Amino acid sequence: MSPRRLLTLDASGFVFSLLGLALLSLVPELWLFFRNHEDLKFFAPIAYYECIVSFLLWIPALFLPRFWSRCWVIIVGSLSGLATLVVGFHAVSIGARWDVVAHAALLQTSPGEAWGYLRSFVSVGALLWAVALGAGFVVCVVINFRSPPPSRRFAFAGVALGLLVSAFGLHHAIRYGGWIFRTVPVSGGGTVQIIDTSINRFHPVTLLALTHYNYRVTHAYYLQAFHDAQSHLNQFKGAVTVPGAVSPRIVVVVIGESASRRHWSLYGYSRATTPRLEKLGAELVVFPDVISSSTGTLTELRSMWCTAIASLPVFPLFSAAGYTTHWFSAQYSQGANDVEAAALVQLCDERLFLNGTYDEALLPLVQHAVATPGKHVIFVNLFGSHVRYEDRYPRSFAVFRGEGEKGYRLATYDNSIRYTDHVLAEMIELLRQRSEPSCLLYLSDHSEDVYDSRPDEYLFRSDSVATDAMYEIPFVVWFSPEYRQTNASFVRLVTAARTRKYQTRALYQSLIDLVRLTHPIYDSRVSLFSPDYVERERRVGVMGRLYGASPLPP
Ligand SMILES: [Zn+2]
Repeated sequence: MSPRRLLTLDASGFVFSLLGLALLSLVPELWLFFRNHEDLKFFAPIAYYECIVSFLLWIPALFLPRFWSRCWVIIVGSLSGLATLVVGFHAVSIGARWDVVAHAALLQTSPGEAWGYLRSFVSVGALLWAVALGAGFVVCVVINFRSPPPSRRFAFAGVALGLLVSAFGLHHAIRYGGWIFRTVPVSGGGTVQIIDTSINRFHPVTLLALTHYNYRVTHAYYLQAFHDAQSHLNQFKGAVTVPGAVSPRIVVVVIGESASRRHWSLYGYSRATTPRLEKLGAELVVFPDVISSSTGTLTELRSMWCTAIASLPVFPLFSAAGYTTHWFSAQYSQGANDVEAAALVQLCDERLFLNGTYDEALLPLVQHAVATPGKHVIFVNLFGSHVRYEDRYPRSFAVFRGEGEKGYRLATYDNSIRYTDHVLAEMIELLRQRSEPSCLLYLSDHSEDVYDSRPDEYLFRSDSVATDAMYEIPFVVWFSPEYRQTNASFVRLVTAARTRKYQTRALYQSLIDLVRLTHPIYDSRVSLFSPDYVERERRVGVMGRLYGASPLPP
């Protein structure tokens, strides 16, 4: 057989090359599924919708005249290949979904930054992966060119079958994802219009296209915010280590999501939801009387971290003091509610949103940051116990089971807490192994009322209902032995402070203390850990009622 004959295929080559091109686009999501141990019920609909988008993209190749069909294969094949490489490389190197923050980083990067990124995240494995994927696309295009198109009858039959399989998904997308543009609020009272195509956004081609659009419309907002911030950055300078203290090299602040203290066995809950943290015993300083100010994630992030300096978050204070600040989030950078989360943390030196993965996917990011020389303040935003609870943990963490609506909801909520216990314990272990001054603060952004105030009612969270349970959050601090050694008297102060009544507003003041810094904006009367701390009235809910007198007695 001559080499030429070997490369000349029949119509099945044409069909299989299109199938190959369509399926290669699924590789990034497939990678995330395995890498982040995602649940099959989370991955399956994503894969299904990706297949539908691929199918729609490749229909014209079957029906266009020979020349135009070739053009279509070249153009769409190259676009799909490039999009899949970009989105896939991000997934392989960092374990994150592509988003507007990653897109902005790509478009705004400088050669130096790009080199730094590549050196930090590129591995031989990731490069081989990219080469293999690129080669896959090239091989499919070559095979397509070497084979004749199938008969009309076959093409029609194939498309009919494809439409039949896609019908459910298309119907669902039109019915429930009908809106394409969505107006979302940003701080300062303005709004921007972004594209939110819900479930269809995972195909690399559509994902990149809509991310690019969203990047363009939100970029204007970020630019303005950043411009305003720049003019105040000088005021954040000048933080110095408290005389006689030793500033730790690593400080990790973990912000949980919707975790209720009432569901932590560390605080006396009947189910063993926090076995690993309990094993730490006296290593952990447990605060039993801390509440959040509201029941909203963003409201809380703002309330905890925004300073009196032009309402800007505290991050530049640590940067100016020689720390690299990181924001690692398992949540979405942008989505149904707003684009503010990404804007709020833009002053952190490094920002990564994993866009809806299991929380353990954050561990390698923390590990990488702590292994990097220099001093670091690492903010970790968990997905924690965000609804739906059963989507927040891998199947192996489904320890508790319950019957009926209440039993099931309670069990899944408690499982999500137990998974947080695992992630926190892993993070503490990671710090302990480094044998250097470090500490970790964990608190939840707010709580949730999961049959706590009324035994038969799931009240969730709302500032208008405002039961006490909606604000009662877990709050714990862990110090490494080296931190305890170098800051012994401060650790004693923290331990003595644990019974104080505290509300998380201006939490940054307490963080300045943990990092052992002082600065003109530091106010010791507001820091939970300072001997000067003054307890204040704690008010919650839209009516501003006093905490401790829940409107719904159990
Ligand atoms: Zn929240």
